[in-house]
Parts: sequence; structure tokens; C-alpha cells
Amino acid sequence: MPGFELFDEAERKEVAEVMETGVLMRYGFGAARAGRWKEREMEEAIRRRAGVGHALLVADGTAALTTALAALGVGSGDEVVMPAFTFVASFESIFAAGATPILADVDDTLCLSPEAVRKAVTRRTKVVMPVHMCGAAADMDALQALCREYGLFLVEDACQAFGASYKGKFLGGIGEAGCYSFDFNKVVTCGEGGAVVTNDAKLYERADMYHDHGHDHKNDDRGLEDHPFPGYNYRISELHAAIGCAQIRKMDTFIGILRRNKKAFKDALSEIREVTFRRLPDPEGDSATFLTFFLPTEELARDAAATLKAKGVEGVFHWYDNNWHYVRNWTHFKERRFASPLSSDILKGMPDYAAADFSASDHWLSRCISISMKLGWKEEELPAKAEKAARSIKSIL
Ligand SMILES: *Cc1c(COP(=O)(O)O)cnc(C)c1O
Repeated sequence: MPGFELFDEAERKEVAEVMETGVLMRYGFGAARAGRWKEREMEEAIRRRAGVGHALLVADGTAALTTALAALGVGSGDEVVMPAFTFVASFESIFAAGATPILADVDDTLCLSPEAVRKAVTRRTKVVMPVHMCGAAADMDALQALCREYGLFLVEDACQAFGASYKGKFLGGIGEAGCYSFDFNKVVTCGEGGAVVTNDAKLYERADMYHDHGHDHKNDDRGLEDHPFPGYNYRISELHAAIGCAQIRKMDTFIGILRRNKKAFKDALSEIREVTFRRLPDPEGDSATFLTFFLPTEELARDAAATLKAKGVEGVFHWYDNNWHYVRNWTHFKERRFASPLSSDILKGMPDYAAADFSASDHWLSRCISISMKLGWKEEELPAKAEKAARSIKSIL
């Protein structure tokens, strides 16, 4: 899946251009930088791809989520509804903003269930934060309608879905704000990197200030700039942005390869009666980073995952047993073990997640397997790879 699989001369050339001047910072150093602004270049590319008014590059996807929440004014006493199946960055960014994460179940899309969100909304809810897991969209029509009904902000965590779309709209560009990650394992990578996109000029301006110590960026001399509010340092470096500039030009090629690979695997697995596939609210817009499917029982899924791995199938995930992505194994979070005490405001409204019932999500996650599609696979290798996966699954049924 990751874009680093296809690093070549293009990334090296971009990095070399930055090293020719040695200016690694996005702001200032006017003459020395010889007109090179890799962040601005990548932001413009993101903005055009996402079809939005504004894009802000930041240090990583977690920083993008935190920045979006802070820019929306979300903080102490506010609740953010997020899915029980996601990456730990979801609740980390909500804590960082000073707000309270409220977990809701996922459904057969493996993304937020709109009905579960409805049940989770209270008078303290400010944001619904769907996560477009494994490269494909959540049920955005229903979630957007719900946000309008209750007057909530919709913040899309599109960190795993840069390049995917929903009914013709680039993911991340649908809600009030959208967030991307360009970390080393994402389809388009900067090594580390992230972005916030929005159509709201005011929100962009606040995000831009927040991510750089509150600087208003209205003066060439940083020491003379105003700071309407304190922020943080979530800046990305020119070197990281340079790699992203080369990677984003390859995005269509990447998605094309992933879709070709996924089709081969899906065709092979479709012949197994016991295998059913993840529901995609818009199959056309899938970025095809994973093929995700369900087996009839938890035991069969665990057996299938073990057998696939034993037979040498790469990139096999049984998320239910994974420590990073599903609430079942987030013991630090559930037992409230934090590096330093969180504010009582955050914890006051937080349900007791050690005791909470996520059986509706368990129903899907316990039986779910994803196989990661690699960019480096050659077309001629695909039939054998897909056949091996299908044979491995058949062998345990
Ligand atoms: C990768 C990821 C993030 C965080 O991105 P980083 O750049 O690694 O900080 C957030 N949410 C999801 C769903 C992710 O997959």
C-alpha cells in the first residue's frame, strides 16, 4: 500500500532541490530559499485534488486532527463522537484539544454507524468525526444529514483515505474540515506529514495560526508578527513536503495499481461462498488500499488470518486482535492510564469504557479480515497471489 514502495528519482530530485538552498523551514529566509516553497506547492496540489478552498500542511495526521478541532473552537466540556474502530490518534487528538471522546459503534461499512451516532449525541456534542477506514468512505449522506439536524460540525478523518471519494467528492472535502495523514505507511507519504482542508476561510486562518504558535503570518519578520491566541508547533519541514510534492503527482498511478490488485483478489475470493465483503457506501470511490471481508464466525476468521500468514500472504490483518485499531485492546484508554492527569472536565463526561458494550461492532470486527494491497506487486504475479489467498481460506472452511 504505502507510496514509499515506488520512491524513485522524482522524490530524490525534490529533496535535492531543498538541500541546494539548505532552507528546511516553511516560513521566512526570503532570499536564501531561492523561490522554493515546497509546502506551498504541496498545499496547492492537495487543495486542487480535494476540490476545496484551503489546505494547510502540518507535521502529521494526528496534529491535523488536533488543529482542526482547536480551529473549530472545540475544547473543554465538548464531546466529539468517534468510531470504536479507528487508529488511536482519534482519541489522542480529542484529548489534545481538551475535549471528551465519545465512542460509537461501527457497522458493516467498518465506519461510524449513523444510528449509533444518533444514540451518542448529547447536549455537549460539538463534532462528529467519522473515520474513512481502510481507504473507503463512511456513509456520508446519513452522517451529514445527522450533523445538520443537530447542528454539529462534521470533521472527516480521511487519514487513511487520501485519494478516495464519495459520490464524486474527494474524501476530506465534504465536512467542515477534513484531515489527511502522509505518514510512512500511507498511500501518499512525506515520511511524516498531514493536512487540514476546509472551505471556510476563517477556519483555515485559525488552523494556520494554531499550528505555528499562533503566528498570524502577516509580516515577513516573525518577531514582529501578532499572535491572536497561543498555538502549538505542528509545522512540517520543507524536506518532508518536498517528498510529498513528488508523491502526490503519482497519486492516480498509485490508486490505479491498488484497484487492479484489489480486483484480482476480490475476484478470487468471490468464489468462496462463506466469504462476504465489507459494504462500501460508494464502491466507485474506494481507493482500494485493502480488500476487507467477513467470515461466518470469529474462530474461522482467526483461523483464516493465521493460515493466510502461515502460507506467506502479505499484509493480513484480523483487526479484532490488533492493539492499535479497535477499542477491545485499548487497555490504556479504557483503564484511563495517562502520562499525566487529564483535566477533570474531559473525564467527567466520559463513559466507563472498561464496562461499555461494543457488541454491535464486535459482530463485524471479530469476523473481519483485511488484506493490504501492495503497490510493488507486478501484474503477472497477481493470479498466483490471489489464488494462494483463496486456497488458504478454503483450507480452513
Ligand atoms: C494514520 C492515521 C492517523 C494519524 O496520522 P499520523 O500522521 O500517523 O499522525 C489518524 N487517523 C487514522 C485513521 C490513521 O490511519
